[in-house]
Amino acid sequence: MDETLRIAVDRALEHLHGIEEPPVVPIDPDASLRAAIDIELPDRGIDPSQVVAELADGVRPGLVKSAGGRYFGFVTGGALPAALAADWLTSAWDQNAFSYVASPAASVVESVAARWLLEVLDLPRSAAVAFVTGCQMAHVTAMAAARHHLLDRAGWDVGDEGLMGAPAIRVVAGAHRHATVDRALRLLGLGTRVVDVVPADEHGRMSVPGAREALGRARGSPTLLALQAGEVNTGSFDDFEELVAEGRAAGAWVHVDGAFGLWARAAEELRHLAAGVELADSWAFDAHKWLNVPYDSGVAVVAPRDSLRAAMRYTADYLVESDHVRDASDWTPDASRRARGIPVYAALRSLGRAGVSELVSRCCGHARAVASGLESLGLEVVNEVVLNQVLVRASSDAETRRVLRRVQESGEAWMSGTVWAGRPAIRISVSSWATTPADVSRTVAAFAAALGDAD
Ligand SMILES: *Cc1c(COP(=O)(O)O)cnc(C)c1O
Repeated sequence: MDETLRIAVDRALEHLHGIEEPPVVPIDPDASLRAAIDIELPDRGIDPSQVVAELADGVRPGLVKSAGGRYFGFVTGGALPAALAADWLTSAWDQNAFSYVASPAASVVESVAARWLLEVLDLPRSAAVAFVTGCQMAHVTAMAAARHHLLDRAGWDVGDEGLMGAPAIRVVAGAHRHATVDRALRLLGLGTRVVDVVPADEHGRMSVPGAREALGRARGSPTLLALQAGEVNTGSFDDFEELVAEGRAAGAWVHVDGAFGLWARAAEELRHLAAGVELADSWAFDAHKWLNVPYDSGVAVVAPRDSLRAAMRYTADYLVESDHVRDASDWTPDASRRARGIPVYAALRSLGRAGVSELVSRCCGHARAVASGLESLGLEVVNEVVLNQVLVRASSDAETRRVLRRVQESGEAWMSGTVWAGRPAIRISVSSWATTPADVSRTVAAFAAALGDAD
């Protein structure tokens, strides 16, 4: 055991020490990955140290340096040292974190991590918190509570009766909602046809009059209003003060996709972006994005806690239930589960309140610096850089695609492309604790080189 774990630590450190070496994303790694990894399953096992050493060596050419400072793809955080180490221990301890009895340690750490999250994000302190795999499952978890709650109010117990013959639930959501909202609706049996799509403004924010009309059309039906903190391209925020009030007045359950944007609540100068969001019913967000906890780590928060418990809770004769302590299985869709809240606890404690605030502000500062650096190269910044997202375009669509490809191929930095308002754009997301001003300069230099290159 000792030797095998030491090899793992050595290989992990080797990876992390080389994290700033290009290429940020491997170019065409498939053949070397296959050669090292794609072997026949042996009849007889081999020495665990050899397995770990050869695995680590074999995957090296295919590892994305997303934990480094110049990976700006999708919305991707790195891994804070305390969170990474706590994540390792979570595996070594191998606790089944489904109930207090199965792991008092996991239960207590997660209950404290839950409380800290509510404090840092300034959400209702009495809300229920569920640690899940990501924002996708946080949507499913929170919306299962919403489904239970809305139908219960309509006199229908969805847990017993299911959805067949149930009153039809209406969903009001924005044109720029994240695709995971739709998948949650599919998984919950509500389907996507129930969505009344509210138009968005040029920043991707839900139209308030449009929402009012859609809520009016849904009148009389149990209604879920899905809002967004942090549009995935522009980083924009729905107007929660107006929209949550509209939802409340219509008797809707208000759910918020705050995968990364909800963290704006942690920074004093950004809080105003999500003002009023605390009056919603449920929130879904990630720890593996902006809190820089290793994958996978998402969180669902539900204010009407009994609705979440009613939707999730299960029991069996052989299980031991504990009163007055946290049994995770009351709040999550999992039975046996990893104690995902432990790395969250470690991340929050190592940063402290001020550190979380500083991390979020710092990334936004880097995003503004990237934007002005790219503007000075003659690129067009398409969005208002209110958060950590920057959208840029070159002189033509073809040139935008060419510059993106050149920067990606340089290995100096990596970001993905997107389509915004019908035209291609380069999409930069600054979400890592590891990004420094030097990384920003190096990224801008990679763009300068790409613009200078002829194809
Ligand atoms: C990333 C993201 C999601 C999905 O989160 P996962 O952690 O990938 O499940 C949902 N909504 C938004 C706005 C996102 O950025």
